Amino acid sequence: MSGTTEREEPETAGSQESRPSHGHATLFLDVDGVLNSYPVRGLRYYRERRRKARAWLFELHYRPRIVRLLDRLVETHDVDIVWLSTWSHRCTEELEPALGFRHTFDVIPMPDDTYNRFAADPDRWWKALHMRDWLDEDSDRRAVWIDDDLAAPATHARFERDYPADRLLMVAPRFRDGLTTGQLRDIRAFLDRRSRRDRRTAKRARLLTPAAPEDTP
Ligand SMILES: [Mg+2]
Repeated sequence: MSGTTEREEPETAGSQESRPSHGHATLFLDVDGVLNSYPVRGLRYYRERRRKARAWLFELHYRPRIVRLLDRLVETHDVDIVWLSTWSHRCTEELEPALGFRHTFDVIPMPDDTYNRFAADPDRWWKALHMRDWLDEDSDRRAVWIDDDLAAPATHARFERDYPADRLLMVAPRFRDGLTTGQLRDIRAFLDRRSRRDRRTAKRARLLTPAAPEDTP
């Protein structure tokens, strides 16, 4: 469709094979500003191979490639994904099928109706409270937290102060872009790769699953 296309991320990174392992990690994933971003028109729409979808009465603007890379991440790396979004259970009920996810992930539902009103206050934002509880429960736990609201300086600074960089990786996409392949590269660098045997098993399972239409450019 387009002349210049962003290069697909290589699936293997040999340098990581010999890297010391850091342990399993959980990736907490937001929706708006991460998967869904501002409507994109013109050349950029085609260059980034964007799509539109409908869910929860909204029109979503997203990149199937990002969905595919997240799906693949849980197969190639020692990570599980958990939805941490105001979409709550709509993540599995509506978003996963609408965006074409092959996997389904656990959900941390919003406990009240505050949405992201307190995102700038690490002592009140429901996501910050959840992340703190989760990280403090076990000092071996490692997390990737992807949320555009992590751009809030006070929240970002608090978590940066309280958790070392090898325990918590915060990624704050810009709402106009959503999560990028460059940010996914940083995330992969934070994670351990699965063993060859695990990857083979995951790949076999994947071959048995019909690919989404967007998988074939
Ligand atoms: Mg958001």
